[in-house]
Amino acid sequence: MRLNTKGLILKEQNIGEQDKLVTVLTADFGIIKAFVRGAKSIKSKKQSATGLLCYSKLSLYNGKDSYIIDEAECIEVFFGLRNDIEKLALAQYFAELAYELAPQETDANEYLRVVLNSLYMISTSKKPNLQIKAITELRLLSLSGYMPNLVACERCGEFETPTMYFDMEHGLLYCENCASAGVPLALELNTVTAMRHIVFSRLEKLYNFKMSDEGLQDLSYVTEMYLKIKTERKYKTLDFYNSLRTV
Ligand SMILES: [Zn+2]
Repeated sequence: MRLNTKGLILKEQNIGEQDKLVTVLTADFGIIKAFVRGAKSIKSKKQSATGLLCYSKLSLYNGKDSYIIDEAECIEVFFGLRNDIEKLALAQYFAELAYELAPQETDANEYLRVVLNSLYMISTSKKPNLQIKAITELRLLSLSGYMPNLVACERCGEFETPTMYFDMEHGLLYCENCASAGVPLALELNTVTAMRHIVFSRLEKLYNFKMSDEGLQDLSYVTEMYLKIKTERKYKTLDFYNSLRTV
């Protein structure tokens, strides 16, 4: 059966002399693995359109054991990522996050839109890298079933106090009167406000907030820790990005 969709190439791996295997985040079928035949030929338009971090129109068919891409046309290559190692490292981390969190064989349009918007934002330097990182981590986690409950204090319902406490293990928030000693992490109110925005805002508004560099460091620290606790793993691409980070 022939299928048409759009997708972002998350991984590519050479198979033999001519072919490659790519992992794609597609709008309609989530994460899929697909073979690209004859991709290495210089004349092949498929070669560039199935390169890492290309967003492309894909025509594929479902072979016996796997998908096969027979036509690919590039829509966006995020050129601004290609000459900045720090941005490229962050983009590769987003690809790893998408691979970890997006579903397979089902609609993943929301995931794709978040990742594409984030790649666009870093490639055009529209917002600080750390802000885009925190947004991508927490929004993808929220889509994939790890949305923390940030509405109000879990115990008394208080909306905000100058310091609030976040229980990362359970994804719960407490006000300063209700936090029990020892367990949760103290957060300044502006960090909580930013996290609420990332979790609850519409996609069109997702990137529209401003924080100091110090505030972004705190925000990025929390979203990264929360990600690692919830997914119980480390991310090689994140370690690489952190080793390069200048701010
Ligand atoms: Zn409370």
